[in-house]
Amino acid sequence: MRREEPLICKIPREELGKFLKWLEDNHAPVYGLKKEGEKVTFGKISGPHDIYLGGVRSLHPYTKTLFLPPRERVARYFGEEDLPTVEEKKIIFGFKACDLRALAIYDIMFDDTVPSDPFYLAKRESYYIISFDCTEVLPTCFCVFVDGNPYPESKFDLNLTLLEDIIIMEVGSPWGEEVVKKYPTWLAEPEDIKRRDLFREEMKKKVMEVNKEFFPLSKPLTYLLRTHFDSPVWEEKSQTCVACGGCTAICPTCYCYTLYDEEGEKTNERIRIWDYCQYPGFAQEAGGANPRKKRMERFRHRYAHKFDYGMVRKGVYECTGCGRCISVCPGKIDMREVLLALDQEELKKGKENAA
Ligand code: SF4
Ligand code: SF4
Repeated sequence: MRREEPLICKIPREELGKFLKWLEDNHAPVYGLKKEGEKVTFGKISGPHDIYLGGVRSLHPYTKTLFLPPRERVARYFGEEDLPTVEEKKIIFGFKACDLRALAIYDIMFDDTVPSDPFYLAKRESYYIISFDCTEVLPTCFCVFVDGNPYPESKFDLNLTLLEDIIIMEVGSPWGEEVVKKYPTWLAEPEDIKRRDLFREEMKKKVMEVNKEFFPLSKPLTYLLRTHFDSPVWEEKSQTCVACGGCTAICPTCYCYTLYDEEGEKTNERIRIWDYCQYPGFAQEAGGANPRKKRMERFRHRYAHKFDYGMVRKGVYECTGCGRCISVCPGKIDMREVLLALDQEELKKGKENAA
């Protein structure tokens, strides 16, 4: 069967305001990433001046907050039925490739499962996603080295690439197709697509440039994790970890949670909240045993989850290379340095074996 090419259109760049208004008038309210001083925040978009165009991922993992809220009621006892509801549709503007790769992981964990999670599914139904190519690179970005790219490749309804004079729109869903067919867009010419692809190559090179002291490694990450379980690297690199859980809280692909019951006035409620594997009690069992009592064991577990377990279970890294955990760690732990140290150990082992 012939592969269907994605539908790619364009509009003049100065038409962004008109496009936003048209979306609001014809589809749904537009929310998204906004720039407030140095901070990137999230909220209702009032016009093109208000929106964080292109740029790079926000520090806060908004994909996680929206689709897997930090606190959510998932059941109510002895009261009226409490089924998840699809909210009034909203359009989300501005997610980047690493945000959407997190969404792909949630889909695997909460949708492709039996049974799937009805609360997650209701949220998936509540949003249209208009994503953007990154137009900047942070010193902490490493998406290209964990099977990603600085431009979205799936999980969007529409993806926008900002060039100097035009905005290229790639369709990713029937809703996205409806938008480009009803809004007066032009079909992108081969020359436009070539310009977009060149721009993307440049962005990839920038990601490689900021990582040249860490990557590429000599062996796949999964191999390194599997073969260096007893490495002294874990003890050494976890020395400055204070088990604050910041890396897991900020990580868009850390989706672990815990459940507890809360007493209400008439009914009791079951609440789901984020939980962090870096906390000492995370893995503790009811009988008191704890398989990851030591800080080093919890530290190592996080890396194994990101680069080994996801590969075994679903064929994906559970890390998008967004670098958020590097930005927030009070112990100044850089995930890339840890991976590099494992690789150096591997190279040393190879040399010793060859001698
Ligand atoms: S953010 Fe840093 S210090 Fe805090 S738990 Fe994670 S690795 Fe440890
Ligand atoms: S582990 Fe770090 S770099 Fe990877 S997705 Fe999580 S926050 Fe981003």
